[in-house]
Amino acid sequence: MRASKYLVPTEKENPADAVVASHRLMIRAGLIRKSGSGFYFYLPLGLRVLKKIENIVREEMDSTGALEFQLPILTPSEFWETSGRWNVMGAEMFRVKDRHDQWYALGPTHEESFSYLVKPLLKSYKDLPINVYQIHTKFRDEIRPRFGVIRSREFIMKDAYSFHLDEASLDATYQEMRSAYRKIFQRCGLKTIPVQADSGSMGGSASEEFMVVSSIGEETLLLCGNCGYNSNSEKTPFVLDPSYSAQGPKEKKEVPTPNKKSIQEVSELLGVRPQDTIKAVAVKNEKESLIVFLRGDLELNEHKLKSYLKWTDLEMIPEPELKSKGLVPGFIGPSDVNSSFKLLLDSSIKKEEAYVVGAGKEDAHIQGYVPGSEIKMEYMVADVALAREGDPCPTCGTSLKAEKGIEVGHIFKLGDKYTKAFQIQVLDQQGKAKILTMGCYGIGVNRTMATVIEQCNDDKGIYWPISIAPFEISLVTLAKGAEQEAKVLEFYENLKNEGFEVFWDERDLGPGFKFKDSELVGFPIRITVGKKFFESGEISIYDRKHDKDESFTFSGFDDLHTRVENLRQELYQELL
Ligand code: ATP
Ligand code: MG
Repeated sequence: MRASKYLVPTEKENPADAVVASHRLMIRAGLIRKSGSGFYFYLPLGLRVLKKIENIVREEMDSTGALEFQLPILTPSEFWETSGRWNVMGAEMFRVKDRHDQWYALGPTHEESFSYLVKPLLKSYKDLPINVYQIHTKFRDEIRPRFGVIRSREFIMKDAYSFHLDEASLDATYQEMRSAYRKIFQRCGLKTIPVQADSGSMGGSASEEFMVVSSIGEETLLLCGNCGYNSNSEKTPFVLDPSYSAQGPKEKKEVPTPNKKSIQEVSELLGVRPQDTIKAVAVKNEKESLIVFLRGDLELNEHKLKSYLKWTDLEMIPEPELKSKGLVPGFIGPSDVNSSFKLLLDSSIKKEEAYVVGAGKEDAHIQGYVPGSEIKMEYMVADVALAREGDPCPTCGTSLKAEKGIEVGHIFKLGDKYTKAFQIQVLDQQGKAKILTMGCYGIGVNRTMATVIEQCNDDKGIYWPISIAPFEISLVTLAKGAEQEAKVLEFYENLKNEGFEVFWDERDLGPGFKFKDSELVGFPIRITVGKKFFESGEISIYDRKHDKDESFTFSGFDDLHTRVENLRQELYQELL
């Protein structure tokens, strides 16, 4: 490819709205341009990277025996009504109406479409298991599109769905996808960690997210350096430190706490630790209201609560509503909860020990409150606290370490939610009709591309893993006059004919400019044939990632091919 016939619209300045490295560099390197909030144009250089990632994903999926499809992006509302998600999906789903007043969604995910499609195709257990996938555009009207293509409203996802007669078969495919994902990300040069994830209120028995540790990550990961237990903090069980016991005053009495509503204020005033107090969090969904009591130093994990209660939505109850139902916000204790609410005690609370709790009236708390003997109404006990760095690992007890992470992929055992809704059943070995069980497996292709840049950039720009670079090699030449031009053309033709993927920068620009461009765009290998070649026969090969420049006297194309191929192989080796 000749640069003069290509488009290399590099920019010196950082775009004003780009706050993360990948977004800045994708724009500056001329890979993408913004179209609107959360959607982007892909330019030729950027598209080549995207297609290479897609191909890696496709090769690894195909090698597991998964079958590639392409489904319409426009999905009829009936599909979503069948699964019950037309309402549940809320504002994140883009909806459009056709001229006949029929509603459609621009698919944010395709469980329903694939379910509709495979139902009549699967007739007997002999057709199973089957894993179907596509690599296609998804639409999600994200509340906060940001970080360029990392969280956009239109993006490309590889989404796969598997169908099985039983759990064992689902598990086998799940494990197969797990190892395919490792290979995919490894081949893309991306270091990922699979972490246990929240399966959500939609049911499903197992779920793992593939995370890239990054300071810009929106997820909090809790990792155990000892046993390798890794999880998204949305999911991590809170494990009580074995040495913990409540150490507040044992004598039960009401104590004045004027204007002290926060745990911090109350514990300072009374001289107790926050973990010797109990706080109330009031939540509701459309049907019921609930007061959750947690140890004062802990926060509510809404994901765990929703999943325990099987709620699909959850919101905080506003203070006026609490007041109208007879509670005093800031001073709610477990004994004040009335029949308008359900009551839940977080399992971190030791029911037989004494805590400081709200007194149920303004400006007062109760000390020496023992939940086990004081609470008269029925209550639930569940682990709904957010685990933190330093808390014990749920598997081995070692202190957990926290990191921020970007989710690039997700594998999920869905169970029978969709197969039941769509009545996907086959005849089993005994000739009996059986509803299938299902898994789903997603990878964000554009997000993967941006995340690689988050890991592979320096002050000069991007250094692509060779497997997904827009071109493996850039050839920078500087020639004056017909004779020199003929000579550099020979270099290009020769490398190209040898099968190398070469981007030839023969533009009529200064060397500094061309070098900067090649480093910004991030071609892994750069061959320079310039002034020195015409003076003394010297050319150079530059390894962008390791910032190593090797100059040598050109002694023929065979030698050049060997040197380039060796470096190329070395760079591919690093991905293994
Ligand atoms: P997130 O929590 O980041 O919103 P999600 O749980 O909604 O992700 P899934 O529904 O599991 O994501 O989608 C599968 C994959 O699609 C994700 O792992 C991610 O790589 C990608 N993805 C999801 N939402 C977006 C988005 N708005 N922009 C780009 N990629 C996305
Ligand atoms: Mg999302």
